[in-house]
Amino acid sequence: MSYDETLSVEQEMERFMKGLIRRNPCEEEFHQAVHEVATTIIPWVHDRPLYRNARILERMTEPDRIISFRVCWEDDNGNVRVNRGYRVQCNNAIGPYKGGLRFHHSVNLSTLKFLSFEQTFKNSLTGLPMGGAKGGSDFNPKGKSDHEVMRFCQAFMTLLFNHIGADIDIPAGDIGVGAREIGYLFGQHKRLTNEFTGVITGKGLEYGGSLVRQEATGYGAVYFLEDMLKERGQEMEGKVAVISGSGNVATFAAKKLMALGAKVVTLSDSSGYIHDPDGLNEDKLNFVLELKNVRRGRISEYADAFNVKFYPGERPWSVPCDLAMPCATQNEINKQEAEILVKNGCIAVSEGANMPTEEEAISVFQQAKLMFAPSKAANAGGVAVSGLEMSQNSLRISWTEDELNRQLRDIMARIHDRCVEHGRDGDRIDYVKGANIAGFIKVADAMLAYGVV
Ligand code: NDP
Repeated sequence: MSYDETLSVEQEMERFMKGLIRRNPCEEEFHQAVHEVATTIIPWVHDRPLYRNARILERMTEPDRIISFRVCWEDDNGNVRVNRGYRVQCNNAIGPYKGGLRFHHSVNLSTLKFLSFEQTFKNSLTGLPMGGAKGGSDFNPKGKSDHEVMRFCQAFMTLLFNHIGADIDIPAGDIGVGAREIGYLFGQHKRLTNEFTGVITGKGLEYGGSLVRQEATGYGAVYFLEDMLKERGQEMEGKVAVISGSGNVATFAAKKLMALGAKVVTLSDSSGYIHDPDGLNEDKLNFVLELKNVRRGRISEYADAFNVKFYPGERPWSVPCDLAMPCATQNEINKQEAEILVKNGCIAVSEGANMPTEEEAISVFQQAKLMFAPSKAANAGGVAVSGLEMSQNSLRISWTEDELNRQLRDIMARIHDRCVEHGRDGDRIDYVKGANIAGFIKVADAMLAYGVV
């Protein structure tokens, strides 16, 4: 059926979202991620029959393939445990599937469909040849012994390895999948295939990993923030920053903010947040890195160690700040929290986490003309350096830290430029629109070139 040209943009939006919700019932996070993109893409394609008649957005919201499998493993007491594993291969129009694995008790198909959809746009924005995917499991590594995590990772990879490969699909880490898990997953893949290839990124430096990968997402999100500030003639020096999370993205965002002269006054985890009015310094950050990566403890211990206040069960958005960086998880800033941030004088938000801001909260920021960097642009630095890790693995060489830092900085600046190009709206930049359109065009053009597939 050809496109109904009599429909207005609003009617087309309604038709499109109704169809999406009918085909994907009860997947609210997926609906939210698609709605946010459709709001800018549908008006844009409305006047471009080439994309519209080829139904590109409909095709992009139907993943190429979804793999779901049972993962059985034994805990330390010999009990049999059962989890569910997934890989959602969303779109490989511009390169092999690429995206992280998340191990968290909340993981379900809706989470992974939203993440793989976002990843498709994000990977396109990097300018590197990578398609979009995401995977994971409802397995919760928290409180498990190293041996239990190893047995789970080995069982998970045994089910996944047939579907991935260095030219097919290259997973990486995400929430709950850090250096330890990547080591176990890669080790099992190597054992099963008798191959040493760049099939996973985020690897240890001893076995094919890349310098700067660990830092890349947090650093990249701060570089994007720096470019937004520059665009408005502002500087990072002296700004007060509020961060959520205390994992990979949050800690390296904090490190780069500090290096650029900002004062970071909060960190959080799923049990609450700490407020340190004097700001973090190198020693305090090293304490957090050891706490989270070695002892696997709670952020409340920071409050005890440095005599600051811990706010149990709360998020940090009521703390007055110039800059806010949500770096924990999806939907962690709601409308009321956005209003408080605006009221307290926040001027810019850069999303380190994926989709941390609810749609109503984004509207609050946009109405207040606050600079708002959506995750698909702001946190693309991680996957960009993963792409560079893939290149190094294929070439069997290792680039230096300086070289990789330079490439990361250039990639983030290019993403910012593309968002400005497609998002300029009078005297302000709509970064949401800019990121969506810039990410869409490259994937859409490749899909058009392939015909109807
Ligand atoms: P980590 O597992 O290293 O850290 C996650 C942090 O977020 C922890 O402090 C965790 O607290 C907190 N958190 C997780 N779930 C919740 C929740 N439901 N409520 C409150 N706090 C929560 O993950 P990353 O830092 O790697 O990832 C953080 C975000 O960044 C995610 O959205 C991820 O998709 C995104 N991202 C990550 C990239 C990467 O390179 N790592 C790349 C691009 C995006 P606790 O320990 O208590 O669970």
